[in-house]
Amino acid sequence: MKLSTLMVHAASRPQPGTAAVADSIHLSTTFVHAPDGTRAEAGLEYQREAHPNAIALENALTLVEHGAATLSFASGMAAISALMHAVEGPGEVLIGTDLYQGTRSLAREFLAPAGWDVLEAEYASDQFAAAIGPLTRLVWLETPSNPLLAVGDIAATALMCKAHGALLVVDNTFASPALQNPLLLGADVVMHSTTKYLGGHSDVMGGALVFARADALFERASHFRHLHGALLPPFSAWLTLRGLRTLEVRVQRHAENAQRVAEYLATRREIERVNYPGLSGHPNHAVAARQMRAFGGMLSIQLRGGRAAALAVAGQVRLFTNATSLGGVESLIEHRASVEGKHPVTADNLLRLSIGLEDAEDSAW
Ligand code: PLP
Repeated sequence: MKLSTLMVHAASRPQPGTAAVADSIHLSTTFVHAPDGTRAEAGLEYQREAHPNAIALENALTLVEHGAATLSFASGMAAISALMHAVEGPGEVLIGTDLYQGTRSLAREFLAPAGWDVLEAEYASDQFAAAIGPLTRLVWLETPSNPLLAVGDIAATALMCKAHGALLVVDNTFASPALQNPLLLGADVVMHSTTKYLGGHSDVMGGALVFARADALFERASHFRHLHGALLPPFSAWLTLRGLRTLEVRVQRHAENAQRVAEYLATRREIERVNYPGLSGHPNHAVAARQMRAFGGMLSIQLRGGRAAALAVAGQVRLFTNATSLGGVESLIEHRASVEGKHPVTADNLLRLSIGLEDAEDSAW
């Protein structure tokens, strides 16, 4: 079945008892035991462990990411945290020099004190694969990355990980399953902040881990989620599955718009650099073209004139909303360094743009 068909139909069936075509929301926190005190037929017991809306979303994500099993979480960070705690260590963990700041903080502030060696390397060079060795237990590849839109080679990294027995996790948030399927390229786990493109309307938080195998790692992450109460709640799961139904068409339009906006911005003298994998001058454009079906809706720009120029643009735009997050229908712009706390790592002149579903002709500032 083709992707858009899968996204519309995955895990959907008329609701028993009502014949309703749309899914129902099940708010029950507890489920009836079988007469002998064990779990009833549906296998459910208590909402913190599993509930029908999470299961429906997880089954759908498993299909569209070509995995074996999925766990949904209350946020992307809850998913990242569960995985980092589930991997047996300590050992070396390799992260990219550019990645979501929360992922870096979790690795540096929580894995490192637990005995892990946290290494960083750039994606768009041979350094990333070269940094993988016999001590590497976990490789965290975010591609395209936040906020520099760096692109890592998933298949090449997966080969290195296999050679050294390391686990490869790909944060697929920026691309979404509509544009990139890391498990098909050899990754072991795909991570999503479903708060972004999967939800798609800036109104629901969530995260997911899709596993290539329903193995011991999956079981540990599932157990961690249960004990930490990190499961995605029913209404959020319902909204996210509804988002998945339209993901393919939305992301296609996001990507078309972003390509046009990136090409236009690349002509502006005030802009020093446009970071977008769809531009032929992007350092890993060829890799992106090989592993993605389109280049996505995210880009960043670096302005001549530094911080003052960047803040002036973010403050003056009319159609874009100056706000954090991404992947919703509306275009957002953000000065990343301003939201990175006391020790920002992003360049002061950088603005991150999430290109929405408006008409690209209207998107110029
Ligand atoms: N991964 C990426 C690439 C992100 O951009 C974000 C959030 O912006 C996260 C993970 C964390 O997800 P959440 O905010 O849903 O916890």
